Amino acid sequence: MDEQAVEFARAYERETGKRPLRDEPLSRHASFRIGGPADLFVETSSPSELMAAVLMARAAGVRYRVIGGGFNLLFDDDGYRGLMIRNAARGLKLQTGTGTIEAASAAAIDDLTRGAAERGWGGLEFLAGIPGTLGGAVYGNAGAFGRAMCDVLVEANLLTPEGAEVRVGPGSLEFAYRHSRLKTSSDILLSASVRLLPASSEAVRAAMDESLALRARRHPPRATAYPGSFFKNPVLPDGCKQAAGFLLEQSGARGLRVGGASVFQGHCNFIINDAGASARDVLALAAEMKRRVLEKYGIALEEEVIFVPASA
Ligand SMILES: Cc1cc2nc3c(=O)[nH]c(=O)nc-3n(C[C@H](O)[C@H](O)[C@H](O)COP(=O)(O)OP(=O)(O)OC[C@H]3O[C@@H](n4cnc5c(N)ncnc54)[C@H](O)[C@@H]3O)c2cc1C
Repeated sequence: MDEQAVEFARAYERETGKRPLRDEPLSRHASFRIGGPADLFVETSSPSELMAAVLMARAAGVRYRVIGGGFNLLFDDDGYRGLMIRNAARGLKLQTGTGTIEAASAAAIDDLTRGAAERGWGGLEFLAGIPGTLGGAVYGNAGAFGRAMCDVLVEANLLTPEGAEVRVGPGSLEFAYRHSRLKTSSDILLSASVRLLPASSEAVRAAMDESLALRARRHPPRATAYPGSFFKNPVLPDGCKQAAGFLLEQSGARGLRVGGASVFQGHCNFIINDAGASARDVLALAAEMKRRVLEKYGIALEEEVIFVPASA
């Protein structure tokens, strides 16, 4: 660990009373169950603690990254040189007057959809079953069934790289398919509010159950180690989206394997870790899948899952 990291660890403990973990295996923090040790690891349990960790890392010149549930990540076999900040600041506030729900960035998407449904509000049914936090969902504009976070986000409270707290509307987040400005700006989402629609709890629950049933049919069994769809669905020159799973299937990807990573038999856009896979196995398998689709269709698939390299 370098001097800056040691300085951060001391300052963080002094300020918060919490000692950062050293060499924490990142495989414990990713649904893929892959990843070596992070030099330093902290879990923050409030937006102010999250802010303090980010600002102190910046002040000490320590490389850092904020993660939520780890449901969309592939960590490096060599881990992470720097500080991994796991955001665990939960909490929701339903504003019945304005029909919005305000939530801390580590609120689980599942708590948002269920919390709204229990109080007779809908509009978030399409998010049912997407694991992870609000922060991860805004970062990647998560969605399903033709809708995404960009359709429901009202306001985001961001921590800028300069340390300022700013409130912005969806227009300034440059949302696109599985993309937001957070991917390029290094802003951190502290909290956000999303729009709800009045609905009966029964109707919302029925719609959520329908989405969950559809997911259960498409996805691998619950205990499987994987991070959801591996590739984005490519947009063709005519503007239509093509299912990456279909292209991969037609290119002979079903059942391909490299080491401990394989293409799920039931759906070719899922890479699963079914035998102690390394990140290197996954990257080699993904490269072969991309190569086949490029060769057969001339389409370059892009990863939806985010690879976090050990060093910058
Ligand atoms: C079984 C399964 C099903 C899935 N289905 C879907 C689906 O239908 N649709 C879909 O879109 N995705 C799906 N996913 C992927 C995943 O659930 C989403 O991408 C989710 O939004 C990730 O949230 P997270 O908190 O786990 O983010 P993480 O994986 O922890 O992080 C993702 C990225 O967000 C950044 N980030 C996290 N929090 C913040 C923050 N507060 N501020 C700034 N940046 C932040 C991280 O640095 C990282 O780059 C699925 C995954 C699984 C395992």
